[in-house]
Amino acid sequence: MKEIIASRRTILLTSLIFLALVLWNAYSSVQLHKSYQHALMKSVTDSVLADYQEYLAQLRTDVIHFQGQNYTQIAALANKGPLASKEEYMQLLKLMKNQFSDLRLFAIIDNNAQGVLKHITGDFLDDCKDEIRTTVDVGSQEHLFLHRSSNSIHYDLLEPLNIPGKQGWYFFVAFNTTVFESLLIKYQLPHQELFLLRTDLIGKIELSTTTTTDEHIAGIEMSAEEVQMFSFVKEIPGTRWQLAIRQEPNYQSSILVKSVIKALILWLFASAIILAFYLFQRQRARSHYAIKKALEFNATHDALTGLMNRATFEQSLTNFISQAKDNPTHGVVLLVDIDQFQLINNGYGYAVGDSVLNFLSIELKRYLPENVACSRLGNDEFAILVPDLSFEHAQACANKLKQFINDLSYVTEESLIKLTASIGVLHIDTDQISRERIFNSLAQAVRIAKEKGRNRAQLYQSDDQALIQHAQEMSVIKDIDAALNENRFMLYRQHINALQGDINIPKYEVLVRLKSRQDEIIPPDHFIPACEKFGLITKLDRWVIEATCKSIADTGDNGHYSINLSGITLADKDIKEFVSNMFEKYHINPNRIGFEITETYAITHLESATKFIGQMSEMGCEFSLDDFGSGLSSFSYLQQLPVHHIKIDGSFIKDICNNRLNQVFVETMHKLAKEMGKDCIAEFVEDKATQEHLIELGIEFAQGYYHHRPEKWFEY
Ligand code: C2E
Ligand code: CA
Ligand code: CA
Repeated sequence: MKEIIASRRTILLTSLIFLALVLWNAYSSVQLHKSYQHALMKSVTDSVLADYQEYLAQLRTDVIHFQGQNYTQIAALANKGPLASKEEYMQLLKLMKNQFSDLRLFAIIDNNAQGVLKHITGDFLDDCKDEIRTTVDVGSQEHLFLHRSSNSIHYDLLEPLNIPGKQGWYFFVAFNTTVFESLLIKYQLPHQELFLLRTDLIGKIELSTTTTTDEHIAGIEMSAEEVQMFSFVKEIPGTRWQLAIRQEPNYQSSILVKSVIKALILWLFASAIILAFYLFQRQRARSHYAIKKALEFNATHDALTGLMNRATFEQSLTNFISQAKDNPTHGVVLLVDIDQFQLINNGYGYAVGDSVLNFLSIELKRYLPENVACSRLGNDEFAILVPDLSFEHAQACANKLKQFINDLSYVTEESLIKLTASIGVLHIDTDQISRERIFNSLAQAVRIAKEKGRNRAQLYQSDDQALIQHAQEMSVIKDIDAALNENRFMLYRQHINALQGDINIPKYEVLVRLKSRQDEIIPPDHFIPACEKFGLITKLDRWVIEATCKSIADTGDNGHYSINLSGITLADKDIKEFVSNMFEKYHINPNRIGFEITETYAITHLESATKFIGQMSEMGCEFSLDDFGSGLSSFSYLQQLPVHHIKIDGSFIKDICNNRLNQVFVETMHKLAKEMGKDCIAEFVEDKATQEHLIELGIEFAQGYYHHRPEKWFEY
């Protein structure tokens, strides 16, 4: 779920970044458009300007050329002046109109700025007079502008009159403005208006691309604000004009708005895609998560009741026990077995049975506190682990639970089902207890509760024989740990004597004893089984190995010692290294040490036993197969075990003189052992007759009270 939140943030951020990008893009494209428009307007005005100038220059050239061609007629008119006839004038005007398309009239101006053909052409407009006057005064026409009458509009070109003696005179030609207008229209672009303005009169418009005919004739006056609206203005040299361009009033802002709208649409579209993708991914992640959770739940919980399953409960129990190692703690485990549940199944059917279990589970969950682990182990069995509950409160807690179950009623259509339970109760206050042991003890307690008449809670500690034994074992276990710390273990040794000739060094078996705090000597049969059950045996075996090495080193003993090893120790992967370290630490020659392993263990754990024997034999240690004949003897296995000696179990030896079967067994065993290159050691040789019998049979070694009772050998 964390990933979903993270990706939601990423998507939001991405969307915002994208928005910023598209807006930035819109802004810069508007800027680009502006500069493009500016360049465009510059190029439009440049073109109009170039065409105007070209046109005027051409026109002036043509006028000069015309003067040259018609010199005679023009000179006649100039010389005659007021005496010139209208026919002469009209003749020349006709000729001229044929050459100049927009021509209106021509006139001849003297050096006093007076028209010498006034009697034919009439008086000039004021604007014309102004133009003539400045031209004559300045000596050339530099301020061309349009002249308006009430019904027409034109401009005048003044070119010096090329007639001798007429210095300062001008040839005056008036033209219509058609070409100027058509050039403006030619370069007009969409969303633009082109204007010809007066430079000297602010706001006076001479021509424009959008004016009506009337406006065109009258000219337009613009306010100062309107003049401000022009987007581009350029002077036309040699005239009183400026070229100007006005863009449609909302053109720029509409471009900006359009760009922003486009950007927002793009952003919305992209965001919608991102959002759709995100929703899709989220949906997928959620369903994966739900499936994962459901799978996890199914793997750890009981399908019928939703309580934890056996494996999960066992794990909780293991965790609880191992926690006790570092942090002594109390807890109580309850095993709840519904009484005569089979009757419900048989009477109402399995569906109702299942519903009852389900109902009970729901009620239990409601009843038990949060920190209590509750599990359905299977069938009608429930297990409950209550942490932090002391021994004194265990019984009360179980009784309350029993009462709670008694008070429940499951209602079916026809009847009311009441439940009772037999509850086993076990108090845990040590890590020296295994899960298996807990379940066994609880099963015993439940069995007793049922035997006592059901519907009761049975604490595991009563007068039951098995419970007493368990309690004793527990106290032994506690004592063993203490004894190891207090060095209350002792080593005894028993001589193993050679029956066929002598051997150079004495041979012994090492036997462990526990000294109680009251100085009683406790034999190994009283504590070894409990040590094996509660996982202490490896510690003890290690102690024996070290004590043996130390004793040999301390006393300078020259004997050979056989040490008993439990099967569990043999399976310990570090044991080989431990033994080697001890040999090194106490400078022990491995030839001086042998190990005894029981036949039963060696055969049931053939692989690890063979491996260990192989490794230790390589170092020089000897191996004996102990208690041979008492277990699952199989000769084929015997062949595979690389041991040196076979210790025939004492039960076959004790009464060998009187028991024919034992005689045969020992004889056969011995023959087989010889075939395999192994020696035999007979245990429990308690009298002379037995020993002699064994010598007769050819048995190599004997061990027993007859020759030597185990004697104390090492004590801290
Ligand atoms: P085991 O290995 O078969 O040892 C022989 C047992 O027979 C010893 O008992 C010994 O005292 C006893 N015994 C010796 N001669 C006679 C005899 O003539 N008649 C009779 N009836 N008994 C005789 P112990 O010392 O009580 O040891 C009992 C068992 O405890 C041993 O059986 C061995 O399995 C185990 N054990 C002893 N010491 C150790 C040890 O250091 N480590 C481990 N893992 N087990 C040990
Ligand atoms: Ca032994
Ligand atoms: Ca034995």
